[in-house]
Amino acid sequence: MTGLFDSWQRQINYLRISVTDHCNLNCVYCSVGSVSHLPRSEILSYEEIQRVVQVAATMGINKVRLTGGEPLLRSDLSKLIRMLSQIEDIDDISLTSNGILLSKYALELKEAGLKRVNVSLDTLKEDRFKRITGRDKLGEVLSGIEAARLAGLNPVKINMVVLRGVNDDEIIDFTRMSTSQEWHVRFIEFMPFGIPKAEALGTVSTQKIRESIQCLGKLEPYTGKTGNGPARYYRLPGAKGTIGFISPMTEHFCDTCNRLRLTSDGQLRPCLLDDDEIDLKEPLRNGANTDELKELIQQAVTIKRERHHLNEGLAPEKRSMNQIGG
Ligand code: SAM
Repeated sequence: MTGLFDSWQRQINYLRISVTDHCNLNCVYCSVGSVSHLPRSEILSYEEIQRVVQVAATMGINKVRLTGGEPLLRSDLSKLIRMLSQIEDIDDISLTSNGILLSKYALELKEAGLKRVNVSLDTLKEDRFKRITGRDKLGEVLSGIEAARLAGLNPVKINMVVLRGVNDDEIIDFTRMSTSQEWHVRFIEFMPFGIPKAEALGTVSTQKIRESIQCLGKLEPYTGKTGNGPARYYRLPGAKGTIGFISPMTEHFCDTCNRLRLTSDGQLRPCLLDDDEIDLKEPLRNGANTDELKELIQQAVTIKRERHHLNEGLAPEKRSMNQIGG
């Protein structure tokens, strides 16, 4: 067998990279504003990220996603995308963003080699957007989605985290955006971890979300090209876009997990929801050679656990979502 395989025979080919722990929003469940930021010197440089990806690519990683924090806050992100797109064997570079700065950067990101973008958006109501995120920026996000679409960063996927009593009354409005426009909406079950405020918020199960959509028609399984992730995709009859469900709480998808995560300060995490980490930053800065880095990457793969246990109350404690990279 060639490639990277963990102890559960899962093939690992996908690396999510957090390029910053800073964000220009302060969402109620993620709340970067309430956590301290890492000193600049702790954050991996573009050259260090490139080195990790170069080594990982020789082991079987062929897809990377840039995230954060808000990745578009990192200066000249297009430069990093250009650096990564030159690495042999990396055939897919994507981005997760809150969309605020996409109007400004979509075109240059595309030209640098970015393939696709996922935009996080939890409400279509201006006042609610401000309540959830702390900023009055819905207009910018909507323009950013359109700019990404026009720049060819398709399919642009819209990720909505459904929060009980906060935005669950907008499931139908988001679903309608998949019929009236070419929106690819993904409903994500909220994971109660990270900050105390998050732990008080409520998850809406995928089953409940599906039930509330029933009135719009029968969801047909969508069999077109969908990407590398855990979402299950459907389409309403005649819709231009699709609807996806990501269910980390009620139907965990760990058995198909194909990813590792690199935090902005250079820790390789086998799992979002587990505190295990392998430090790459110090070895990188102390002149580790390729074989030594390979061994560390292999270690992270080897210690990857079979599944997460968030729904049994075992949550990661070391870091918040913005530090790990959502
Ligand atoms: N700033 C970028 C953005 O907004 O997409 C990337 C980072 S953000 C942490 C990535 C995604 O994680 C967002 O879609 C956010 O809604 C999601 N997220 C954060 N905390 C979460 C939680 N506790 N449960 C589910 N999704 C969460």
